[in-house]
Amino acid sequence: MPTDLNQIALSNRRKVLDALRISGRMARVELAETTGLSPATVTAVTAELLNEGFVEACAGEGDGAARRGRPKVDLRLRPDAARVAGVKISLHRISVTITNFAGELLGASEISVRANHQPPERIAQMVDEALETALRAQEMSRNALHGVGIGLPGFVDGETGVSHWSPVFGEGAYDVAALFSKQLQLPCFVDNDANLATVAEHWFGRGKGRGDMLAVTIEHGVGMGMVIGGRLYRGAHGIGAEFGHTKIRPGGALCRCGQRGCIEAYLADYAILREVSTFRRTADPFDPLAVHAALAEIQAEGMAGDPRIRAIYARAGEILGIGLANLINIFGPELLVVSGAGSSAAPLFEPAMREALAANTLSAAVDRTPVEITQSSDALWAHGAAALVLTRSAFGSA
Ligand SMILES: [Zn+2]
Repeated sequence: MPTDLNQIALSNRRKVLDALRISGRMARVELAETTGLSPATVTAVTAELLNEGFVEACAGEGDGAARRGRPKVDLRLRPDAARVAGVKISLHRISVTITNFAGELLGASEISVRANHQPPERIAQMVDEALETALRAQEMSRNALHGVGIGLPGFVDGETGVSHWSPVFGEGAYDVAALFSKQLQLPCFVDNDANLATVAEHWFGRGKGRGDMLAVTIEHGVGMGMVIGGRLYRGAHGIGAEFGHTKIRPGGALCRCGQRGCIEAYLADYAILREVSTFRRTADPFDPLAVHAALAEIQAEGMAGDPRIRAIYARAGEILGIGLANLINIFGPELLVVSGAGSSAAPLFEPAMREALAANTLSAAVDRTPVEITQSSDALWAHGAAALVLTRSAFGSA
């Protein structure tokens, strides 16, 4: 069927582009080995990409010496062939990056917002404004962009671009990819923000070159992304891993999902604020900018020695450590990264987290799985969102 043939052609094209983007440069024979495509298919796909200007030929590495036969020719992406934008939406901030076709960062900017429980049309306008700010800083016109990748917290189907629930919108399911595409007048790809943080760590961060890695993100909620066999794993329904809603304490703290004992109910921003509010006034939980400022203050007081705050974070660290040990016991990843704005509290939760990790990880894995806490910036996540466009877009292909 023609549709199936188009899908196969598209998939082959993406495999070749991804292999070139990750390796930098490759000969056709290496591309065939890496992608698993036949040499004839690689020749056909690369001929098309060369013809369209997305790929260029360059002298193969180590070509200085005299060689017999035809000279080795490598292929590489033309960095200027396209530009894309990546957007990370969090409740208090929208971050935008612009990258070239090779995934290299050209610029980053951000604006402060109150993006909680807003109509999706309003959020689309905020993203539009943030994108315009980033384009102005680069002296670029919107027409120069091929597409926009957008990372959103919540239950987001990365395949269809439908948000089933997000704290950004409140209740309700929305086809946000269609809505953002209409507002921005550009093709938009939407995914769960933790997936994009994972892609960013895998392509540009600590996980570069790893086949199997997990990334856990602590923000307003607790998210997770998985790279298995070198590719982002989304599960059968496209929604991905809801590590934050795995249960650690039966009948424990109430989670915003409506159930009890979830990891998120101890670790997320709102959970920390709820605990602090038992002994003093804190920020209005519905004002994300106030929440962001209050958490910074709470963390500073904890680091200065306030025992009540230290106890809250120690319990959060213990819950996180048990959850991470469960992940290691199930998946046996090469690397586990903990990132997100909440990782700035690492000095408060890390000792209890490490203790619980050591006590609950199976002995065969305990010393073999590095668990790294990173203070990755929103720009890194937005960079992951740009990478999403690069891997998902057909770039002119039918
Ligand atoms: Zn939950």
